[in-house]
Amino acid sequence: MTFKEFGLDASLLEGIEASGYENATPVQEQVIPIILSGKDIIASAQTGTGKTAAFLLPIVNKLIASRRDDQVNALVIVPTRELAIQIAQNLEGLSYFTNISSIAVYGGGDGSNFSTEKQALSRGADVVICTPGRMIAHLNMGYVQLKGLQYLVLDEADRMLDMGFYDDIMKIISFLPPVRQNLLFSATMPVKIRELARKILHDPAEVNIAISKPPAKIVQEAFVVYETQKIPLIKWLLKSTNLKSTLIFCSKKHNVKQLTSELRRARFNVKEIHSDLDQSSREDVLLEFKSRRLPILVATDILSRGIDIDNIEMVINYDVPNDGEDYIHRIGRTARAETDGVAFTFVSEKEQNKFKTIEDLLGDPVRKAVVPEEFGATPEYTPRSKRSGGGGGRNRGGGGRGQGGHNGQGGPNGRGAQNSQGGHGGHGGGNRRFHHNGPKKKDGSPQAQQSQPKPNENNS
Ligand code: AMP
Repeated sequence: MTFKEFGLDASLLEGIEASGYENATPVQEQVIPIILSGKDIIASAQTGTGKTAAFLLPIVNKLIASRRDDQVNALVIVPTRELAIQIAQNLEGLSYFTNISSIAVYGGGDGSNFSTEKQALSRGADVVICTPGRMIAHLNMGYVQLKGLQYLVLDEADRMLDMGFYDDIMKIISFLPPVRQNLLFSATMPVKIRELARKILHDPAEVNIAISKPPAKIVQEAFVVYETQKIPLIKWLLKSTNLKSTLIFCSKKHNVKQLTSELRRARFNVKEIHSDLDQSSREDVLLEFKSRRLPILVATDILSRGIDIDNIEMVINYDVPNDGEDYIHRIGRTARAETDGVAFTFVSEKEQNKFKTIEDLLGDPVRKAVVPEEFGATPEYTPRSKRSGGGGGRNRGGGGRGQGGHNGQGGPNGRGAQNSQGGHGGHGGGNRRFHHNGPKKKDGSPQAQQSQPKPNENNS
């Protein structure tokens, strides 16, 4: 499903495209229409499923029309500072071309951060992403403008309860207007979450995105390589395995076409399948592959779900899929029924964090295969897990945390707070990492990231 089909505002679609999202993930397909319809929601969805955009997009879309000036319009409560920053960055990319402002409010910074937050909370910011303790500190001072609040999101609610935030959450809620839309996301659904939901949500729609585990008999391995090593490596892999049935996945049509023609040039018997082919060509190719007249098929994710092809011996992920569900569906094409199968994933340097998110979702690291010496040196596998709190010093350097507008000017809404948590001008050096599909400005240059906390700061 494409994002256009949700009927989202053109300015938001532009941000989605700039963030590199093409199709909605399963959780987005289910959750976005429900939120747009105005219903409360309780959703079990883990990190890595695209759940953040699943709640941010409909909220921003609705706020474009209904935001109230000088107010906090949406409040997202999260367990950790890292998650607050990550969501704020995600939001910055998605809402870049809209008039929506946002700020992350979390502990651990110095006094200047607090006063920046105070300014935003008292003058108004459309979306506030906060950790509980820091938000209460502000609420207790009495200046937070919450009368217009329309949306409350509790993200990673199970983790918040595990961290002892129940009372803090209830206290924050006691400051909010009673009529609002409530959204609760949790990786797990223990009894205490159900109880919290009963207290906060009104007649919620329930969404359950269960992550299926891949069958144990699939042998999964990952090659950690440089992007330029992928083509020679795949040729070597295809030659040395010489199997009757190999399915190769690429995330983008363009890559499918490019890889297929590379392999053809190297005289492999290979064809491609993607949405640019008409239905009858697709069916022909599929039939050839199923009947084993065609040993190698290169496909986009249109083939990863629901298509029954028995006896695929090997799946190769030429790139890392965008979410864990796609990974599981892709590798699930092999080892069907009684047969065994093998699934290799090529992980380039810029895909390492994405792959780690998938490993986290699976609950186990995927074995790293040894790249033959003839391919030369390979990168270390040093991903930064989204879940690892502190310690990593992610995304550091650059502008301060403040209400900086685009290019230092006031935002289009005249409040100067365009996705403010960090000045757009802050291209400082340091250990900056851009999101794998990080938003690009219209001129194609990556957007500046916000300043990040020091590794030794507290979590909330
Ligand atoms: P989340 O589960 O929200 O932490 O998202 C996991 C990762 O998937 C993040 O890096 C998102 O930027 C990315 N993502 C979310 N939705 C999509 C999408 N529709 N297409 C591609 N990437 C996505």
